[in-house]
Amino acid sequence: MKKIVIIGGGIAGLTAGIFAQKNGFESIILEKHHTLGGECTGWDRQGYHIDGCIHWLLGTKEGTPLHDLWTTVGALDGVEIYSPESFLAFEHEGVTVHFYRDLERLKSSWLEISPEDKDTIEQFCKVIKQLQSFEIPVGKPMDMMNNMMNIFEKIKYIASMKDVGPIMQKYGKIRLHEYAKTFKHPALREALASFMPEGEYSADAWENLAKDQEAYTREKARIGEVIIRAMETRFPHMTGKLKVLDVATPKTYERYCNAYRGAFMGFWPTIRGKMMSHTGRIKGLNNIFLSGQWLQPPGGLPVALITGKDTIMRLCKQEKQPFIKS
Ligand SMILES: Cc1cc2nc3c(=O)[nH]c(=O)nc-3n(C[C@H](O)[C@H](O)[C@H](O)COP(=O)(O)OP(=O)(O)OC[C@H]3O[C@@H](n4cnc5c(N)ncnc54)[C@H](O)[C@@H]3O)c2cc1C
Repeated sequence: MKKIVIIGGGIAGLTAGIFAQKNGFESIILEKHHTLGGECTGWDRQGYHIDGCIHWLLGTKEGTPLHDLWTTVGALDGVEIYSPESFLAFEHEGVTVHFYRDLERLKSSWLEISPEDKDTIEQFCKVIKQLQSFEIPVGKPMDMMNNMMNIFEKIKYIASMKDVGPIMQKYGKIRLHEYAKTFKHPALREALASFMPEGEYSADAWENLAKDQEAYTREKARIGEVIIRAMETRFPHMTGKLKVLDVATPKTYERYCNAYRGAFMGFWPTIRGKMMSHTGRIKGLNNIFLSGQWLQPPGGLPVALITGKDTIMRLCKQEKQPFIKS
């Protein structure tokens, strides 16, 4: 039995481990932290559980390839899926911006907030609609779709990319903060910009702050206080009732998981980067395969899952054995 060593027990490493076992490889996972899961984590404080990761999950719709893959690794066993109509609400000076899952509802609610942003909102929704045709390739990585057997899979994937290419060309070169400024209403601008912290909450700012442990601790406490005050203002009945305060920063994720600059999603490709996914191979290094959220935009849990599985697919191909997927 061939032996493989998996470095890191995040979702990618764990998935690789599961498929390694299914495919008859002897496998061992080496994890630096005292617990598994990587960035997909949570922790207990004073009797409360702090969920440090999943706020949304792609692949919860039954019958989709991604759902099948989550099911195969057992990640959804006993998990109740909650699908709120609005998966995120952002409040700015008394205005609530909802990110509704229903695109038409999102559009009409945004138009209600800011009729003067009509053109920008309509364009925003049009782009989202076009992007909905895109499906992350779950079955097989692109670089393995080279024989006739997979040609239809490849054509399907390329067809789903039809609208995506031009959109990436256009919007892939605009920083989110710049794009947010194309909206006239401050609440819409702030809501969009909040997805990518800049300035005092950027990775660079935390990097600098962490050089001075006292200043870092002070800043964490300050942020905690700001959050408590904001919650008590928004929900007055909670005043004085908040019991536990725990502030995690990008440095926290860097310290525990070696997460590059504490990034919660992969940010490759960058503005200057190329729009493509990584083959998981490093030229000149045999028998080493990469998995993880950094291999394919936009990162996140599905990419970690898929690329963990892809690694074992590549290994099976190298060993000239069929890949067992279930
Ligand atoms: C606060 C937060 C919220 C998030 N919310 C969501 C969400 O709602 N939806 C979503 O899809 N994604 C979300 N993500 C992203 C998601 O958690 C990650 O994309 C995913 O967990 C990455 O998995 P990974 O296996 O690629 O990498 P990681 O989770 O980084 O795993 C790498 C593992 O390798 C270990 N390791 C690193 N270096 C070494 C070493 N030298 N030796 C041994 N072990 C090592 C680490 O400790 C870690 O366990 C969130 C992330 C964060 C931080």
